[in-house]
Amino acid sequence: MGLVYKYNRLHLSMILGIECTAHTFGIGIVNNGKILANVKDMYKPEKGGIIPMDSANHHKEVAETVYQEALEEAEISEKDIDVIAISNAPGLAPCLLSGMHFAKEKARKLKIRIIPVNHCIAHLEIGQSLGAENPVLLYASGANTQIIAYSSGKYRVFGETLDSGIGNFIDTFARYCGIPFPGGPEIEKLALNGKYIELPYSIKGMDVSFSGMQTKMKQLYDKGEKLKDISYSMQEIAFAMLIEAAERALAHTGKKELVLGGGVACNARLQDMANIMCKERGAKYFCPDRSLLVDNGAMIAFTGEIMAKRDKKLLIHPDKLDISPRERTDDVKVSWK
Ligand code: AMP
Ligand code: MG
Repeated sequence: MGLVYKYNRLHLSMILGIECTAHTFGIGIVNNGKILANVKDMYKPEKGGIIPMDSANHHKEVAETVYQEALEEAEISEKDIDVIAISNAPGLAPCLLSGMHFAKEKARKLKIRIIPVNHCIAHLEIGQSLGAENPVLLYASGANTQIIAYSSGKYRVFGETLDSGIGNFIDTFARYCGIPFPGGPEIEKLALNGKYIELPYSIKGMDVSFSGMQTKMKQLYDKGEKLKDISYSMQEIAFAMLIEAAERALAHTGKKELVLGGGVACNARLQDMANIMCKERGAKYFCPDRSLLVDNGAMIAFTGEIMAKRDKKLLIHPDKLDISPRERTDDVKVSWK
């Protein structure tokens, strides 16, 4: 009887969140909006980009260790966990499956329910941990580049890349020049001493595109242009495109808060530009700590808690959990706002 009750328990104070959508396997633990643990282990390909099956195997290998470390960091025992939140969408199918199997195994063992969380929405909602109430999110990561805000009953994508994510775009160019993955941080260092050269600025409405700039950068590099100058100019132009799109979304929605998310948002120049734009239009600027900007389990737990507290029907039996690799942000039915 007690065990059946646990599946249906409505007392939700300790949420464990699992992040598994791409290269990072992370576990966060949240208790009434407070982050008690945020542990992660990132798969790093030996060369080239992410190989989904390798990343999925990585997740399987590190899952138990990351789980134990998170429990230790939070100073709780697994019996204290009330619900498991998991990023079941969008992402690389093999990675999502690894996370799903782990979540099911733990939830069955602990006889607790699961709440599926959209990864992109979690990047937005973690802004609440800094005090953002109703922000526009500039989500600049490896695979994703989107400007998202909650509006009229849904999380809507106001602008996005028409080709590659900004991080993949930077990493691809870096790899072309012999810099291993992830290339973004190295390009940022090189850019510090660069000077400006013209590159194509491509923004259509609120959407951005990087392929023309990629071609031009490779041509310039082949012709012997200095890598530091290309890096500097790429940052100035590509980031200005993102900031312009984000500013338009603020103007269009009338919102007064901007939150940054994604690995590329660790870049100091992008942060600077975002901060300046917000100051100029009287908007509040929120940049989560690096550990919450990159993919992490704490943001999944944090968002899962908000959702579960507002709508208990979102809590599902482990048998019902599935993955949605291609779920779009605006596909998500929002019942918790
Ligand atoms: P994510 O997909 O959100 O985990 O972020 C990974 C991406 O962030 C990779 O493409 C990295 O190259 C990029 N990245 C990380 N740090 C920086 C940085 N300081 N500047 C630019 N890109 C970065
Ligand atoms: Mg992400």
